[in-house]
Amino acid sequence: MDLVKAEYIWIDGYHPTQNLRSKTKILNGPVADVKELPDWGFDGSSTLQADGNDSDCLLRPVSIFKDPIRGGNNILVMCEVFNADGTVHKSNHRAHLRELSEKFASEECWFGIEQEYTFLDLDGKPYGWPENGYPAPQGKYYCGVGSEQVYGRDIVEEHLEVCLRAGLSLSGINAEVMPAQWEYQVGPLGPLDVSDQLWIARWLLRRVSEDWGVVVSIEPKPMKGDWNGAGAHTNFSTKSMREKGGLKVIEAACEKLSKKHEEHIAVYGSSNEERLTGLHETCSIKDFRYGVSDRGASIRIPMGTANDGCGYLEDRRPSANMDPYEVCFALINTICN
Ligand code: ADP
Ligand code: MN
Ligand code: MN
Ligand code: MN
Repeated sequence: MDLVKAEYIWIDGYHPTQNLRSKTKILNGPVADVKELPDWGFDGSSTLQADGNDSDCLLRPVSIFKDPIRGGNNILVMCEVFNADGTVHKSNHRAHLRELSEKFASEECWFGIEQEYTFLDLDGKPYGWPENGYPAPQGKYYCGVGSEQVYGRDIVEEHLEVCLRAGLSLSGINAEVMPAQWEYQVGPLGPLDVSDQLWIARWLLRRVSEDWGVVVSIEPKPMKGDWNGAGAHTNFSTKSMREKGGLKVIEAACEKLSKKHEEHIAVYGSSNEERLTGLHETCSIKDFRYGVSDRGASIRIPMGTANDGCGYLEDRRPSANMDPYEVCFALINTICN
């Protein structure tokens, strides 16, 4: 008998920023398809998802990945959360995206999400920063190389390796503007796939960092002052944006987005006002602007897209702690309707 360790992963009920939770189920394997996996339950009173006197919540597997840490036939299982009576739990934003993405399947929406994050020591100080004072001001850290520029590359490399072994579609990684800040990109993929994979990549990053005694922060502004914040730029296209004449479709999408700015900001991550100040390659949270190659705009139309006359747009507003299910929902809902 081939016993499989299945790590059931879900998103809890904390507000305004949800957290990852997981627990292990031992199954007879190997498991080839998510449909073979049983539903499971958990104590929702310990995750802000239920009251103590009626605490059972339901976990329903929705996608599976190879477990690159345990290896073998072991798997990581992304789950949606339901109430005991089978209705969608209010913390389950994936269920709404599932319905919307089916409705607009013919648009063939693609997303590429850039996840920025910061390593911290257990005491909350950015990883590798001096005990007293600060490292040299920002300038040479972005995509830097060398011991004085780079903080934590071994962890980043290990994370990239396990993501690829899990079968995630990472498109790249880079060191960011603030020392100890990094980025990985997921996609382009459809809305459910990119969101599931972004959450699984977050889970793997936290899991790998446990072995290094390092904390992963996705706070939008971990260090106050003249240090860059952390975002989750969301690159978006529809089939018609990617085809000849797509630039016109992209501009029309930007006009639609301009009318829903507050609605989008409301689901683009908490404490984002600390990051979207108009400094450090951001547009103020109070303004909406779009432009070609403009990293100070809310929406950037990449140079390649402007030159080709088709391609994609980059929404620079989402913060690092956003929920991709909610961000993808908002973009499809505004642009495709
Ligand atoms: P930046 O120059 O903003 O740092 P990155 O290279 O970090 O850009 O991220 C760009 C992301 O956009 C990648 O994940 C890439 O796969 C994705 N992407 C590329 N083409 C498209 C497209 N047509 N639609 C959606 N996303 C795309
Ligand atoms: Mn990037
Ligand atoms: Mn970046
Ligand atoms: Mn970007």
